[in-house]
Amino acid sequence: MPEDVLYDIIDLCHAIDVRAEKIYRQLHRSYSDKNKELSLFWEQMADEEKEHISFWKGLLPLAKKKMIPQIFDYPSQVRDELVNIKDSAKQLEEQILNTPPVNKGFLVALRLEFYVLHPAFEILFHFAKDLEGFAGIKTPEDDYEEHIDRFIDALNQYGKVTPEMELLGETLTRLWKENKQLAIQGNTDYLTNMMNRRGFLQAIRPLAYFAHRNKYHVGILMIDIDYFKLINDTFGHQTGDRVLSEVASGIKSSVRKSDICGRYGGEEFIVFLSSVEPGAGSSVAEKIRQTLEDLKPDGIPITASIGGCDGPIGTEVEKDLNRLIKTSDICLYEAKDSGRNRVVYQQQT
Ligand code: GH3
Ligand code: MG
Ligand code: MG
Repeated sequence: MPEDVLYDIIDLCHAIDVRAEKIYRQLHRSYSDKNKELSLFWEQMADEEKEHISFWKGLLPLAKKKMIPQIFDYPSQVRDELVNIKDSAKQLEEQILNTPPVNKGFLVALRLEFYVLHPAFEILFHFAKDLEGFAGIKTPEDDYEEHIDRFIDALNQYGKVTPEMELLGETLTRLWKENKQLAIQGNTDYLTNMMNRRGFLQAIRPLAYFAHRNKYHVGILMIDIDYFKLINDTFGHQTGDRVLSEVASGIKSSVRKSDICGRYGGEEFIVFLSSVEPGAGSSVAEKIRQTLEDLKPDGIPITASIGGCDGPIGTEVEKDLNRLIKTSDICLYEAKDSGRNRVVYQQQT
């Protein structure tokens, strides 16, 4: 089952970072007498790995409960690669058992950091970020850039940097940036910074399974800006873009952190309410509608029509989700037909 492969992947990331922490602790101890500053630097690196480790620990039970979707296109391949990385990291550990020369320590660390730049790490960091509010775990994504920068700085400060090491350092920085891009592309909409349709559908699936097991109602809201074409025609496309991005922020600010927002299409947004009392999604929809009416992005008054519904999720999770989305869509058209700037909502049982 692919989900078990995902569990293995997270478990391997955990094991690799455990190894990384050990290596940095060892380096910390190695220089504690000879070079206090350098020793403290390695300690900080170890402490940062420790934070990554607690992140993986938080993710493992979620993977066990199948709350993380299969976000890798080739999961078995990723797992095999991580197994190799774990073995290589073990060999690195053996290279620094006795106090190594300063440069040797940096070379080992360069290798190690290079290994943990496997895209799997960043893809999981980034994915978990979207679930932060839901799962209550903090992802290290935002701190990772500093982690790398700090490492490169220390390398230049303490190491006798050879051209090869310098190249490796540059490669690390570049790889990190590329990985970050990779994790974002595909699932995120550039203009609004929200998930796009693909990312949204991927993110809500495990939450729907969760709702099914816990017998929660989930809700879907479809939000479409009224007469948006007119805004483009009157104020220009660039202004239209700014309006879209402000609308996205307005929607996000109106829902709970545990709800998932996405840009579903051009000027259409979608919200997944991860657990609602039956019928309660209509007041969330109304709150969004009011927020957008008050928003006046770029000084332009706008309104939106919202279609929504909530219902239970049965054994056929995907089918039930699709049905809720379809119903919201029908409600949205009713809201448009009956005059716009309104909510049409259906509670299903
Ligand atoms: P209605 O009230 O029926 O929803 O009318 P509308 O004008 O909002 O709907 P329609 O579907 O006719 O037009 C949607 C417009 O949204 C047309 C399209 O050019 C514009 N649009 C879609 N994506 C973008 C975008 O990324 N930026 C900008 N500026 N406009 C966009
Ligand atoms: Mg519209
Ligand atoms: Mg539309």
